[in-house]
Amino acid sequence: MKDTIIIKIDTENIDDKLIEKCAGILREGGTVVFPTETVYGLGADALNPEAVKKIFKAKGRPSNNPLIIHISKAENVLPLVEEIPEKAHGLMKEFWPGPLTLIFKKSEIVPRETSGGLSTVAIRIPNNSIAIKLIEEAGVPIAAPSANVSGKLSPTKAEHVMEDLMGKVDAIIVGGDCNIGIESTVLDMTAETPIILRPGTVTREMLERVLGESPINLSMENPNKVRGESDSPGTKHIHYLPDAKITVVQGDLDDIVAKINELRTEYEREDKKIGIICTDETKNRYEKNMNRNGGTLNRHGKNMGSVIIKSLGSRKYPETIAVNLFKVLREFDKTDAEIILCESVSDTGIGQAIMDRLEKVASTIVQQ
Ligand code: AMP
Ligand code: MG
Repeated sequence: MKDTIIIKIDTENIDDKLIEKCAGILREGGTVVFPTETVYGLGADALNPEAVKKIFKAKGRPSNNPLIIHISKAENVLPLVEEIPEKAHGLMKEFWPGPLTLIFKKSEIVPRETSGGLSTVAIRIPNNSIAIKLIEEAGVPIAAPSANVSGKLSPTKAEHVMEDLMGKVDAIIVGGDCNIGIESTVLDMTAETPIILRPGTVTREMLERVLGESPINLSMENPNKVRGESDSPGTKHIHYLPDAKITVVQGDLDDIVAKINELRTEYEREDKKIGIICTDETKNRYEKNMNRNGGTLNRHGKNMGSVIIKSLGSRKYPETIAVNLFKVLREFDKTDAEIILCESVSDTGIGQAIMDRLEKVASTIVQQ
């Protein structure tokens, strides 16, 4: 067990002394958790193999799952890569700092520990002032995967990080909630046509507008690949593992609601503790027939047990649904729900990234 230091930094008024302290830990080969706009990251000097090994150890992450390197300005890509493909320049200009990770052929200085043994390297500039200042002050590129125990949900709040990593890292910066809430889009720039390895809030449509061509969408072109054999090693491992079994229901909204209510009745008969993840538009359609304790009343007015209902937000604002997704799933980990029945969302724009994450947490997907 390490003595983990907790360092609170006010995003609006960043204390340079605290940043210097954390940067010092990173320069000396230690581990520091910091906020980014996507999720909290577990950082270490990307060019120091011993420091990078500490990330894998703290997370319990398989060593062949490569890390994303975080830098503070675009020119810092140069020493890390063999070349910057022509097509990447426009993307870097448009989307950095921001939630787009680009894959390049790596240079000699990137250790194999960081790239998981691959000849490529993943890089981005986070759009978070604490992260940028920290990386700049450290003066080295920072490898930073999501700051959760491997196989658990990515943390979007400092308290999530503490649940997972207290005693396993040198320092945790408490720096507010992440305002995007799901991990970056990962785009492979080493292929002739760029390939989306992981969908995120920088959507295919946004990439296409800048690239002038449509990137290959791995999850749509070949769904089987995403489930296990793709070139992005992260997709080979089970990524998110909530405590309850999750059933995601797809289809038209009315059919989704009807199916969830039907499944809920079945599980209630089996005395299972049930959770429902819904949206603002549908929440009251699950609350009907419930008593004051959240229990469902059957036809005879008999209490059928309690159901925990949580909304991800309005379907009109998929960004809000993205921000709330991991938070709500982690909230369910604190309940005794055994089964979670979850609505799907439209698979367009940011919805594609949301559905990608829901498919990763689901043990069953029901198509209505
Ligand atoms: P995380 O930072 O925990 O969200 O995980 C980083 C994601 O980026 C994982 O899915 C990795 O497999 C992926 N990744 C990192 N480096 C590479 C690379 N060189 N090639 C392909 N995928 C990568
Ligand atoms: Mg992760």
